[in-house]
Amino acid sequence: NTNRPEFDEGLLRKIAEHPCYDKKAQHKYGRIHLAVAPSCNIQCNFCVREFDCVNESRPGVTSKVLTPQEALEKTRQIIADYPFIKVVGIAGPGDPLANKETFETFELIKKEFPELTLCMSTNGLMLPEKLEDILRVGVSTLTVTINAIDPEIQAKIVDHVVYHGKVYKGIEGAKIQIKNQLEGVKAAVDAGIVVKVNTVLVPGINDKHVVEIARKLNELGVYIMNIMPLISQGAFANIEPPTPEERKAAQQACEPYVLQMRHCRQCRADAYGLLSQDMSQMSEERRKLIKI
Ligand code: SF4
Ligand code: SF4
Repeated sequence: NTNRPEFDEGLLRKIAEHPCYDKKAQHKYGRIHLAVAPSCNIQCNFCVREFDCVNESRPGVTSKVLTPQEALEKTRQIIADYPFIKVVGIAGPGDPLANKETFETFELIKKEFPELTLCMSTNGLMLPEKLEDILRVGVSTLTVTINAIDPEIQAKIVDHVVYHGKVYKGIEGAKIQIKNQLEGVKAAVDAGIVVKVNTVLVPGINDKHVVEIARKLNELGVYIMNIMPLISQGAFANIEPPTPEERKAAQQACEPYVLQMRHCRQCRADAYGLLSQDMSQMSEERRKLIKI
């Protein structure tokens, strides 16, 4: 991506130690997700809200929500046991920007672990307004889920958004979200944050549109794009997920415009460890031992 800004040494190190941003890092460095953000401000058609946010998670799992203080304690215990964890992320179970606990948690973590990379993922609705807070708490890697940049397509994916206390349905809501996502991504890139975009590939809805998204991401200076397969649930329970070949073809078509992530594990909102080993599902015995 030629529009991508140059990164300084510190950011290059953070990228090299981030298991999602650098595929070589996935076997060496880990991440911990802190599930402190239960609320969401939109309704995606593939989302069943008793489970984790589908834009960054595995289907059908419910992460236990922690308070910021509990999240700090969990981080202390896990970092002591797994020093190869370099990234602390908040990815749900709802939208991190719809929960003030996200910022409280990052503040606690930054104070005690200034050397760790702080990472977040969001649906982007509140990104322009919250960017100042994101920068203040020291987030340096940010994922925004962008499933369409055409409001007609987006309106088929998101039922409604709740923006400043008002519900916007269909195309009206889609326009607000897309505008905020694109403005927010541009501002985040300009502010020196390394941005990743997740796109959920929904056959028959946005599969022909992903290249257009990739072109836009190139323009905005996005670092990497992660095309994830649809999880067929909620209002989209009857839509078949893409085949691995369809996903690969989409990635190939987007590759000329923006670097592709191909090793995503669709982690839980409370996952930790190496991507290849989801230790949030480790034995109950071990969990009790580290009191999580
Ligand atoms: Fe669900 Fe995530 Fe969409 Fe919110 S942003 S509705 S939590 S999939
Ligand atoms: Fe990384 Fe994908 Fe897991 Fe997010 S869901 S932490 S992008 S591997």
